[in-house]
Amino acid sequence: MKDDSCIFCKIANGEIPSNTIYEDGEFRVILDLGPASKGHALILPKSHYKDICEADQAVAEKLFPLAAKLGGAMKQSLGASGFNVVQNNGTSAGQTVFHLHVHVIPRYDGGPQMVAWNPQEANNDELKATAKVIRDTLG
Ligand code: AMP
Ligand code: ZN
Repeated sequence: MKDDSCIFCKIANGEIPSNTIYEDGEFRVILDLGPASKGHALILPKSHYKDICEADQAVAEKLFPLAAKLGGAMKQSLGASGFNVVQNNGTSAGQTVFHLHVHVIPRYDGGPQMVAWNPQEANNDELKATAKVIRDTLG
């Protein structure tokens, strides 16, 4: 299913040109226009899902293997020494384009740290309570 108002639907389906590095029947992988590093790529499913929660399982389960394949190719072709796989869901998580996509970001020795957060002090009672509330919701 496509969404006519979605730019990533148009890119994934070839209606808008992109710097494509991989394509098959279900996915197009493009270079990000605002890269965090040289080679920063986005895996776009050709079908429209707002985020990972809405994705078909058959599509979702192919994302990690494809990210691994791309990361390996980035190490070989660009000299990256590692890579991050990042996927944002919701505005509070930094999602700005509401068509499911996975970032594959090559990392280079001596380069800037691009995916980081400030670790907070953890309170054991709070960790226990948080674990319980999520576990109970999962069932
Ligand atoms: P997110 O913040 O996870 O929603 O990521 C959206 C990403 O899409 C950002 O890294 C943008 O730089 C990138 N982006 C937005 N529009 C385009 C476009 N037309 N072509 C390539 N990358 C894009
Ligand atoms: Zn879309």
